[in-house]
Amino acid sequence: MSALDDLMAFQRQTEALAQIAGRLSWDQETMMPRGAAEQRGEEMAAIEGVLHARRTDPRLADWLEEATPADGVAAAQLRLIRRAHERAVRVPSGLAQALARVTSTAQGIWAEARATEKVANFLPTLAEVIALKREEAFALAEGGDLYDALLDDYEPGATAADMAAMFGRMRPRLVRLREAVLAAAPPPPKLDHHFGEGAQLRFARDLATAFGYDFTRGRLDLAVHPFSSGSGNDVRITTRVVETDPFNCFYSVIHEVGHACYELGIDRDYLLTPLGNGVSMGVHESQSRIYENQLGRSPAFTGWIHRQMLDRFGDFGVAGPEEFTRIVNRVEPGFIRTEADEVHYNLHIMMRFDLERALIRGELAVADLEAAWNDRFLADFGVAVDRPAHGLLQDVHGSCGLFGYFPTYTLGNVYAGCLHLALREAVPGLDEQLARGDTSAATGWLRENVQRHGGRYLPQEVITLACGETPSEEPLLDYLDAKFGALYGL
Ligand code: ZN
Repeated sequence: MSALDDLMAFQRQTEALAQIAGRLSWDQETMMPRGAAEQRGEEMAAIEGVLHARRTDPRLADWLEEATPADGVAAAQLRLIRRAHERAVRVPSGLAQALARVTSTAQGIWAEARATEKVANFLPTLAEVIALKREEAFALAEGGDLYDALLDDYEPGATAADMAAMFGRMRPRLVRLREAVLAAAPPPPKLDHHFGEGAQLRFARDLATAFGYDFTRGRLDLAVHPFSSGSGNDVRITTRVVETDPFNCFYSVIHEVGHACYELGIDRDYLLTPLGNGVSMGVHESQSRIYENQLGRSPAFTGWIHRQMLDRFGDFGVAGPEEFTRIVNRVEPGFIRTEADEVHYNLHIMMRFDLERALIRGELAVADLEAAWNDRFLADFGVAVDRPAHGLLQDVHGSCGLFGYFPTYTLGNVYAGCLHLALREAVPGLDEQLARGDTSAATGWLRENVQRHGGRYLPQEVITLACGETPSEEPLLDYLDAKFGALYGL
């Protein structure tokens, strides 16, 4: 056995154990009895301890030193193993386990506080999570920027300065578009009808299939927050059902199918290796958002959804396909990020980014967070937050310790804008296909140009390879101007 063989055999077991840890998280959100929360925290900490020990194993350094990659794929595997090893050795094992334990139980405390609208019941836990994340950031940053150290976990190579500059370029055009849309016409009324859970879930499964989701290697369950989990041949998705608002379920499913198809679409040769995972959260979000928005909310595809819904739910009081498309794409300032329209969505992210960067850098105290949140929301959206579940208790990220994650949502939208432009050039008859409910040319192009590569290239590289040019925010902003300009007659 060569050093490379030893290394890859060892790594394969680490990847398998990481998948098991991921499945425990999936179970916690879908199946786990409530009374098991504390025990689950210990279980998560225990497996994190095992993973941390493996990622810091001194033999890794020796194997990495000796291994000679035969080709670009092997070199990419070594690059990712080295990166994970170098990051892991900077974080003490006790800290890694404490983070796993605290964030596991914090999610239940956050959910309870949100349900009862009691911010004060969540803040001590949030303060504990932030203290641990700051400790981790100090360990990782080695004198550099604390927020960058965390961001790098989700988007290798990205920096807060780059993100801030990009957001600065995007904001004026987004604000201008929002103001033009809101001044043009009142948003169309929301659906006013009852859509039963069973029928919603049946259509959700058919939508997932229409976007190429493979139910022999996945499953759909209910959870408080829609998410996708796993990689390789076991990639599961979740959704939620609101019987007055079927779009909540349907578009969550399309979004999570985008994430899941990325993982399922990775070259089978990379199974249980570092290349067998999506390369970054930004590229991940590019897949979920292009499935959800550029494809799923396109006038062509919403025409197909409209006909499907008429068949399944009967007349639900919408005049015709054009009115239906306008309802699917209604623009309105709202409190909830995950329900935000495409025009407002990135403005929510910019606010999260500024607040969490201040928290991690120690410039904002947890005790002052609610006031800072509410002030900023009023300034950015012109509406006062009416209750905590509509404000800082709305997102799960703080309880999970996902600091540095938010900017990757907008980066994903930006990448989706670039990919959509390239896709439209590559598939000229796309709208005719989408109008028949056929996404195969679009999803096939994405699998071929993005998904199959997994972790083979750096995040920016894979988008550049797919699009033939360096990614920028321009295609997304042009797409939004064109789409909403047409819908609102601007
Ligand atoms: Zn997503």
